[in-house]
Amino acid sequence: MFDLTKCSLCPRNCGADRSSTPGVCGAGMKMQVSKIMHHHWEEPCISGPLPKTDHPLEPGSGTIFFAHCPLGCVYCQNGKISRRDSVGQEMTPAELAYEMLVLQDQGMYNINFVSPTHYTPQIIEAVRSARNDWRDQRLTLPVVWNTGGYENPETIDALAGTVDVFLTDFKYASPDLAGLYSHAPDYPEYAAASLVQMAENMGECVFDDRGMMKRGVIVRHLVLPGHRDDSMAVLRKIASIVDPAKIKLSLMAQYTPEFLPEKRENDPYTKIRRKVTTYEYEKVADLARELGFDGYMQERSSATKRFTPDF
Ligand code: SF4
Repeated sequence: MFDLTKCSLCPRNCGADRSSTPGVCGAGMKMQVSKIMHHHWEEPCISGPLPKTDHPLEPGSGTIFFAHCPLGCVYCQNGKISRRDSVGQEMTPAELAYEMLVLQDQGMYNINFVSPTHYTPQIIEAVRSARNDWRDQRLTLPVVWNTGGYENPETIDALAGTVDVFLTDFKYASPDLAGLYSHAPDYPEYAAASLVQMAENMGECVFDDRGMMKRGVIVRHLVLPGHRDDSMAVLRKIASIVDPAKIKLSLMAQYTPEFLPEKRENDPYTKIRRKVTTYEYEKVADLARELGFDGYMQERSSATKRFTPDF
């Protein structure tokens, strides 16, 4: 179904023959994994309650970070692993399946694939294999697709039966901002089309009796400093294409400018070289409530590197 010798997994549709040359995102034929961890700072229905101790086996979201990313946002907090020249540990689908079963054994709430798009076929194969009995073990945890939202709807559709929860960004409404900060002026168009596909495939959100999400869509929006109007346009756009009652919204205030490239003459990123203010965030949060969204609001105190996984 997917031809990695003419890759079109993401909206870059770069057509790379990944058997000989990495694509625009940096991905070759083999999956590369940058980090596997128990994540405690995703949304509560993904990570569960905050751990009471710093024991490494406290339950959380069983998170697998992939190297590379189709987007490459200039402020990316995972820049060390997401750039084109980043390097991760090569893994076969069988090895990835084994890692999922280890996370399940360790009591995690779900398997959380971060920046997975460019490895879609290998991940589908790995999940299929982990869900089949393998030495008396079988993956039963929900699978979370944690994406920047720059997705081809066809790729999302192909994940039916593999993915249980979409945790997707909707970053910009303005093509200009998407071009400036993520080199993808077509981002709003694809984020909207893929969100419609996710919502259609998932239906209503379903939670278990602990409040952990078993199925559904969470849309994340990170409020950027100086761009309150675009954040509001994003919320209006989402409310116009999906039923706000059928998804969860996660409105994030954690933007931090530490990861931006160094300042230079005619700096194009002046507007976002600060944190978001309470006023900016609250204005956007007010609109979210007005539009009927339910979900998660974030404390501004989370706008610190402390909540960024160490790569
Ligand atoms: S996933 Fe990577 S290689 Fe494939 S189309 Fe997108 S940028 Fe190109």
